[in-house]
Amino acid sequence: MTGSSRTRLCRTFVDRAVQTWRYVDIGARNRLIPGEETLTDINLLEIQGRHPGAVRIWRFSKWKEGRATGADWEWWIGGSGWWVGMRVQAKNWRPGTTPKHLAARLNYRRGQQLQLLLSSSAQDGLFPLYCLYNGRRRWPWLTCPTCQPSPQAFGCTIVPATCVASALHSGSGAHILSCCRPWSCLVCGQCLGFPTGALAHQIYDSLLPAFETLQFRMSPLREQLPQYILALREGAPPERLPDVARLLLIEEGGE
Ligand SMILES: [Zn+2]
Ligand SMILES: [Zn+2]
Repeated sequence: MTGSSRTRLCRTFVDRAVQTWRYVDIGARNRLIPGEETLTDINLLEIQGRHPGAVRIWRFSKWKEGRATGADWEWWIGGSGWWVGMRVQAKNWRPGTTPKHLAARLNYRRGQQLQLLLSSSAQDGLFPLYCLYNGRRRWPWLTCPTCQPSPQAFGCTIVPATCVASALHSGSGAHILSCCRPWSCLVCGQCLGFPTGALAHQIYDSLLPAFETLQFRMSPLREQLPQYILALREGAPPERLPDVARLLLIEEGGE
């Protein structure tokens, strides 16, 4: 992926974050915040539509609500022999909800879903993440100056699931805020603190410190995509599918 195609991807992710922020903001005032499922579908469709050569999405109808994974989508980014895999649970973060209440909400069903996300991701070798659809007007710090220095860039916010677990453990929701980053930072790579190298490596190096406590059965950084994605990419029926409703593949070299 060239620098400029990363920048174009980043712009698209920023645009979707700004739109999502608007939906949550307007939605909160009208008591009509779109559901996580709707926001996820619209965002993935828009991202694919703008980058048809670089982005593939698959949506599965036989979905069991991610009961085995606790996730809404699986996300692979890479190319040229390196890939990084992530498993993502989307949640709305309503304006006015404190980080502490948010942590409690992410822990609903007595923590079953959070534990499921952590354990299934460790088992399958994927980084477990939350993507928060957020409409907060104020943040205690500036957002990413490279991607977009406004709070709306946090319309789609990525938080490591381990960070939510430790916030719950310590009883301090504020801890979650320090783990938040706009989702655009993952695709442009420039703001991850590892400015050179393959995007998959940059993402892996920047996420790994948050997952020290998680024992991955295999690394989320791979030299080959999982069989089911290789099959889907060729238009062949995969032998098995992960228990998620959506797959998102972003491939270096495409536009
Ligand atoms: Zn960026
Ligand atoms: Zn950034």
